[in-house]
Amino acid sequence: MSASDEVGRPDAVVVGAGVIGLTTAVALAEAGLRVRVDADRPPPATTSAAAGATWGPFMIGPEDRVGAWAATSLAVFEELAAGPRETGVAVIEGTHQSLTPARPPRWAVSAGARPCAAAELRAGYTVGWRLRAPVVDMPRYLAWLERRLTRAGGRLRAHTYRSLAEAAHEAPVVVNCSGSGAATLVPDPGVTPVRGQVVVVRHGGALREFFVDETPDAPELVYAFPHGDTAVLGGTAQRGDATLEPSPALSEAILRRCQAVLPELRDAEAVGTRVGLRPAREEVRLETAEAAATGPNAGVLIHNYGHGGAGVTVSWGCAAEVLDLVKQGRSAPPAG
Ligand SMILES: Cc1cc2nc3c(=O)[nH]c(=O)nc-3n(C[C@H](O)[C@H](O)[C@H](O)COP(=O)(O)OP(=O)(O)OC[C@H]3O[C@@H](n4cnc5c(N)ncnc54)[C@H](O)[C@@H]3O)c2cc1C
Repeated sequence: MSASDEVGRPDAVVVGAGVIGLTTAVALAEAGLRVRVDADRPPPATTSAAAGATWGPFMIGPEDRVGAWAATSLAVFEELAAGPRETGVAVIEGTHQSLTPARPPRWAVSAGARPCAAAELRAGYTVGWRLRAPVVDMPRYLAWLERRLTRAGGRLRAHTYRSLAEAAHEAPVVVNCSGSGAATLVPDPGVTPVRGQVVVVRHGGALREFFVDETPDAPELVYAFPHGDTAVLGGTAQRGDATLEPSPALSEAILRRCQAVLPELRDAEAVGTRVGLRPAREEVRLETAEAAATGPNAGVLIHNYGHGGAGVTVSWGCAAEVLDLVKQGRSAPPAG
């Protein structure tokens, strides 16, 4: 693909600097496009920075496309785990457990999950499955993605868009990766913020595996992801709540719930709280849309948003699909 002739004008603008926007921008930049990421919140202030995070579909659809995106991403994360200090990605063991009878989801079985022996179950849990899966230290990972983008010639700019038509003036290709911001930017009433709060603790190496409570219809989320000497403990899923201010009462409750299930965290010290808004939608919207502008600015508009509770899990698969759509869009004859 050839870069735009116009000096300084990007070939593609990606709106959004979360995991979806940055991964998409890396894929486009490494394919030879001049890419600029425009976002009103920088990577460390996005929802993506608040994620736990592990690989595994949650609150996302449709199942068939998600399965393929997740598989592509898993292969990439397994490679990135070779350099965990740099990338923030590690592949470790852990369990998903349920207080009531439950079966492992299909994605866990295909990732090699095996049933837990009775001795592996936490107090009160009746069933569980063990697997090796990527865990991602998100602030470190987003910083690494940003460096990878810069190395490929991409840039980041602080900018708030009021419409996608405005973005169409900036580049012939616009990719909308605005997460929960899509609710107003597109606008798309199908996007609902699902607030998540997590507590970061220092645990001195006491937590060696990840843990996820998978009890069907559980009223509260309980999970823990170790990242070296710290861990991310969760969580909450507050549908329709877009409050970014952390709640000390919720942090206290999260810590207590996790310590009750994982006694090795009894001396863990809370060192931070993060809040993010999962961009929930019935289905991820990943498609070429009608151009947001007409006339000379009518370029290619591709949406890539609505990844709910699994944006990290599907990020590389979605980025690869966007790249395919960009290639198709650029080779199509201009409209009119
Ligand atoms: C507590 C918590 C735990 C989670 N755990 C996991 C997990 O374990 N595994 C997993 O896969 N996923 C997890 N998720 C979900 C995951 O974090 C999201 O699916 C993902 O972050 C969505 O990424 P995104 O890039 O679409 O959105 P965001 O990270 O929200 O980024 C959106 C970007 O768009 C920009 N933007 C929006 N509107 C505009 C505008 N008008 N103009 C300019 N810029 C704009 C924002 O500034 C931001 O840069 C978790 C989420 C939370 C909250």
